[in-house]
Amino acid sequence: MEDCLFCKIANKEIATEIIFEDDKVMIFNDISPQAPVHLLVIPKKHIASLDAIETEDSLLIGHIFQVIKEQMRLRGFNNIKEGYRVVTNLGENGGQTVGHVHFHVLAGRNLQWPPG
Ligand code: 5GP
Ligand code: ZN
Repeated sequence: MEDCLFCKIANKEIATEIIFEDDKVMIFNDISPQAPVHLLVIPKKHIASLDAIETEDSLLIGHIFQVIKEQMRLRGFNNIKEGYRVVTNLGENGGQTVGHVHFHVLAGRNLQWPPG
């Protein structure tokens, strides 16, 4: 989609260090990390938010979580002590600032609950 920051990153119109990609998904570092590890995981397909996910996207969303699991396993965060958090923000109150659905993956420190 035109004028979508994360579509531009997915299409490599904006140079970004790619942590992982396949034909459906891309992972890159958040520009403003909130934890020692702060990845952004996006579908390459433009989906505006969690609320715009359709039934036909179910396999894609499942795939995203498989990729998250694999990538965090590779980094050694798949244990009770380390662990990590996956977050998606929706709308203004939810804290969404980019209109292309994305999953924050935060790790490397003790994350507090509830979030601010
Ligand atoms: P949201 O607030 O929509 O949940 O998350 C958007 C995230 O994208 C924010 O954490 C923000 O720091 C990150 N971000 C915004 N612009 C860029 C950018 O140009 N490059 C990268 N890598 N991250 C960005
Ligand atoms: Zn987009």
